[in-house]
Amino acid sequence: MGRYIGPACKRCRRVGIKLFLKGDRCYMAKCPIEQGHPVPGMHGGRRPRLKDYGLQLQEKQRLRLMYGMQEGQFRLFFQRALRARGVTGEILLQALEMRLDNIVYRMGLAPSRRAARQFVRHGHVRVNDIKVNIPSYKVKAGDVIQVRDAKRSREYAKAHLDAAESRGWPSWLNVDKSAFKAEVLHVPSREEIAPVVNEQLIVELYSK
Ligand code: SF4
Repeated sequence: MGRYIGPACKRCRRVGIKLFLKGDRCYMAKCPIEQGHPVPGMHGGRRPRLKDYGLQLQEKQRLRLMYGMQEGQFRLFFQRALRARGVTGEILLQALEMRLDNIVYRMGLAPSRRAARQFVRHGHVRVNDIKVNIPSYKVKAGDVIQVRDAKRSREYAKAHLDAAESRGWPSWLNVDKSAFKAEVLHVPSREEIAPVVNEQLIVELYSK
């Protein structure tokens, strides 16, 4: 399946929750979800009543789209979580949170995960003082993420850091705004991860 290039808000309207795909607009009153806009499409208006499989599928789509992943890559993350020891759903969420592009987004260096991915891919980010341009790079507890010391990189990040500070940083990141860096204090627990999805439904879907 190719990359989706249509309207981002349509994806949120389809799955009925905020996926935070558009940066600052997502935190404003003009977000279509805040305004209660209905399901998109010709027969939009009423949300269909979903049964078991539909609910599981919707939950998977919510999480996958929120992190901007293709189906194949998302399934790979799930299979790795399934093989790991522990609660599969929680491990899946933790693996998604510990992706480098997600942490760049959580730090507030970019307005959305999509923008964060681009920021990483273009080589603006260093992990433990080494340039890393792989968005799916797996960050570990104790790693230090920093914007490279270049005027262009830091000017871009600065524009978004203030907004992130006003919203508040996650408790598991120690952000030093003036140095454009953050230390990952620990892998976030389920309670510290924001997605409002029921990950157990995703486990049930893939376990069929
Ligand atoms: Fe659009 Fe962001 Fe609102 Fe989603 S959360 S509907 S992307 S403004």
